[in-house]
Amino acid sequence: MFSGKILKLRGTLAFRLTLWYAGIFAVFSGVAFLLFYTLITSVLQERVDQELLGQVQRFSVLLATEGVEAVNNSAVIEAQAAGVKKVFFRLLNLNGEAFSSSNMSYWKDIAVDGRAIEELLRSQTPFTQTIVIPNRRERIRILYAMLSPTTIAQVGEAMESQSVFVEAFRKIFFTTMSLLILVAAGIGWFMARRAVSGVEAVTRAARNISAGSLQERVPVKPTGDEIDQLATTFNQMLDRIQTLLTEIKEMNDNIAHDLRSPVARIRGLAEVTLTGGKSLGDYEIMAASTIEECDRLLDLINTMLVIAKMEAGVEKFPNDEIDISALVHKACELFEPMADDKKVALKCRMPEKVLLVGDVRMLQRMLSNILDNAVKYTPSGGTVEISLSESGQHDVIISIRDTGVGISATDLPHIFERFYRCDRSRSQPGTGLGLSLARAIARAHGGDIRVTSTPDQGSTFSIILPKRVEV
Ligand code: ADP
Repeated sequence: MFSGKILKLRGTLAFRLTLWYAGIFAVFSGVAFLLFYTLITSVLQERVDQELLGQVQRFSVLLATEGVEAVNNSAVIEAQAAGVKKVFFRLLNLNGEAFSSSNMSYWKDIAVDGRAIEELLRSQTPFTQTIVIPNRRERIRILYAMLSPTTIAQVGEAMESQSVFVEAFRKIFFTTMSLLILVAAGIGWFMARRAVSGVEAVTRAARNISAGSLQERVPVKPTGDEIDQLATTFNQMLDRIQTLLTEIKEMNDNIAHDLRSPVARIRGLAEVTLTGGKSLGDYEIMAASTIEECDRLLDLINTMLVIAKMEAGVEKFPNDEIDISALVHKACELFEPMADDKKVALKCRMPEKVLLVGDVRMLQRMLSNILDNAVKYTPSGGTVEISLSESGQHDVIISIRDTGVGISATDLPHIFERFYRCDRSRSQPGTGLGLSLARAIARAHGGDIRVTSTPDQGSTFSIILPKRVEV
């Protein structure tokens, strides 16, 4: 069970972030340690080299002024003063054979390096090297230099203090590094947990939602960081889903309600037919009524399908070049008889020719739905005015203004919803789909429909259409 938990932990983002954090910390501290170590050792070595060179220079002067014996005596005294285990010297001839030296009992393992002599004779500049004697911890720095044209000095110094320093440095480094990496991992874990806690809250909310509670929301802190933005976006998405679900539910209720009435009427007609004893004329009337109801039902279903297709935007519609001015004019002519019957004045003011690209049939449908409403909801004596204007270089605005019953402020935001009918218009025939379809068509053409209305004074519907848009 424990190993299962570890495995689960290994897959988490917090764990990986912690590893990264500790890893990067370890690499950077290691690099810093190496740089520091190299710097310190080279400074220490430089110091030892300077000491050895100084020694050799003193010997050189002594050799020139007082001879080999004086050099020998001085070297032995200096070696003893510094400590037999600290420094040594040898005087060599050009073949590398020692003819004089300090007490070498401690240094007997150190031979004369023939390669160093060769190099010294070739370059005539002091030659240095660092050697390690097996089984001894300290390193020894050795300098070969010319004391005179025939005498070579080999001087060595134990770099004990450097070795002690480096050893202590290494110990301190590894102890503090291990502690610091642990602390870094702890801090990394804490920070990573804090960072992902927001993501976990979103995940928890998503889990609860998939378990059925769509009311759940992710708590948003006022920090405005990326996690809060994620939470806000997630909550907005949930709001949208909830609204959509409510709309779908309402639409389903409406569809059920609006389809039930014609079906019930068709069933009623069929029932009456079954009771028998009617004349042929009665049967003919009933059959005609059934066909009429079926047509209405089919029309309703077809309209719903067209709206759904338009809103989904999945279907490509024809891109005809249309003279919209002529199209609106024709629509007005079609509605003139209906307006005359109702004694409503229909005024149509159109500019010469305005071209746009779109689907003729759909645009005709959109116009006739709005014109039909304008005439339908305007009582006798009223007026319906249609005008067309160009807005800027790109848009066309078709305005349909009536002096009809108007729409109340409470109904206005809903009139474009499917099956929505204002209470005062229920006496008029209609399905409640006309405006939904009109707006879906306008939007599929890249436009929209706006409306302003005052109850009992009239309404103005403005259709905005871009001149050129792919549909
Ligand atoms: P309907 O088939 O009922 O006309 P619509 O979708 O075309 O359905 O219109 C929705 C509702 O908007 C109508 O029922 C009516 O109440 C209101 N409406 C639409 N156009 C007008 C208008 N020009 N004047 C007043 N009310 C209108």
